[in-house]
Amino acid sequence: MSIQTVNPTTNKVIESFIEMTDEEVDKAVTKAASTFENWKKTEYKLRGDVLHKVAGLLREKKDVLAKMITLEMGKLFEHAEGEIKLSAEIFDYYAKNAESFLADKILHPTHGNALIRHSPIGVLLGVEPWNFPFYQVARFAAPNIMTGNTILVKHASIVPQCGIAIEEIFKEAGAPVGLYTNLLISGKRASALVADKRIKGVSLTGSEAAGASIASEAGKYLKKSVLELGGSDAFIVLEDADMDKTVEWAVTGRINNNGQCCVASKRFIVVKSVADIFLEKFKTKFSELIVGDPMDANTQLGPMSSEAAAEQIAAQVQKAVDGGATILLGGKRLQREGAFMEPTIITNMLPDNPVYYEELFGPVATFFRVKDEQAAIDLANDSPYGLGGSVFTQDIERGKRVADQIDTGMVFINHPTWTQADLPFGGTKRSGYGRELSELGIDEFVNKKLIRISELSDPF
Ligand code: NAP
Repeated sequence: MSIQTVNPTTNKVIESFIEMTDEEVDKAVTKAASTFENWKKTEYKLRGDVLHKVAGLLREKKDVLAKMITLEMGKLFEHAEGEIKLSAEIFDYYAKNAESFLADKILHPTHGNALIRHSPIGVLLGVEPWNFPFYQVARFAAPNIMTGNTILVKHASIVPQCGIAIEEIFKEAGAPVGLYTNLLISGKRASALVADKRIKGVSLTGSEAAGASIASEAGKYLKKSVLELGGSDAFIVLEDADMDKTVEWAVTGRINNNGQCCVASKRFIVVKSVADIFLEKFKTKFSELIVGDPMDANTQLGPMSSEAAAEQIAAQVQKAVDGGATILLGGKRLQREGAFMEPTIITNMLPDNPVYYEELFGPVATFFRVKDEQAAIDLANDSPYGLGGSVFTQDIERGKRVADQIDTGMVFINHPTWTQADLPFGGTKRSGYGRELSELGIDEFVNKKLIRISELSDPF
């Protein structure tokens, strides 16, 4: 199995890494399990000190780490810097708030006194994607380390340097050996690892196929799992939207992370009275995008994460065209070195098109013209995914009413789907289950233990 850094801007191999042997993985799991026995007894203050140090080191090394992200998966350098900053915020947030989130919850039962105590459950496995190599790890590792669990991370094979760098940062922060371990292994081996008795829970962020593989192993061995999978977020534009701002957000929502965001705006659903004006402005802005080297501060759209990803999105666009859709803009690979795809707008996408229900993970927008608000909601919900979505209107109450009817885990009014440390993140339907971030994210891998206190004289 090849674990390599390949720069998608040039498609040149930069470095190759050797996969860990079974013995090495076994040793890592053993160490994580023994470290858990001590870590679960440490005070929140000590756990928090480690995470605050991790946050500090991320900030200190921001430039180097951001360059590493850009080198390995092509994110615009400025956005990579933003990702490091956000990751540091997540580590600080849980270091600061975990103790209060996990404090005993006093219950008021009809008889006696009772409370819920939150206890860690053991070694957890996180399987993470390449698209936000630091942020995705932060939102899994920070809350779970604060609960007293220990962590094994199988990172995506195309970002090995990022995976190794995070483990190094934990070491430098003074984390005990076994608290956070990077596993250089394939996805298949990660799935098989779920069976290991010492691993008590698993969280995966990635595709449906990988999620199904992990979830079936977790089900088979009766382990808790959290899945953060794909999405096909609707971007609904109502007739009273502020058109210029809406179009700006439409472009940002689609091309953020070079179009490879689970919560990118992917389906643009516009009511007919403003559809022409939206499409005209959107097409103009999309066609003006500066595509190029992600290290160049002027670049607005960089490469796809890999040659395979670029080939896949180009093939999906062709499949959509073969299925009856129309290309309004772009539609092809860029004729230059690297994994580049043209900014693309597709129209005439009908339910019988084989791509209609698929996620488009690249700078490809699908445009839909609908009769009215209800038709927009119906179309938004006509998707196997249920991750995020947005609605643009100047009437906030109307926006809330629409949001209420959209069947996803997150809806944003007048903004594409977004993330921050103190907002929960997660989906419904085929976008997975469970939540990360905020107070909800720390609750997934804890034993919520009931403790009931009775006087000896109490009747049973
Ligand atoms: P992917 O292929 O599923 O990879 C994600 C991770 O899963 C990688 O570490 C990968 O390892 C591993 N993996 C692959 N096959 C596996 C298997 N059978 N068993 C266990 N692990 C396996 O996902 P991707 O295509 O790189 O990422 C894009 C997808 O992730 C999109 O659908 C996107 O929407 C979704 N995503 C969702 C969220 C969210 O929060 N909901 C966030 C980001 C991305 P290898 O790299 O070694 O194959």
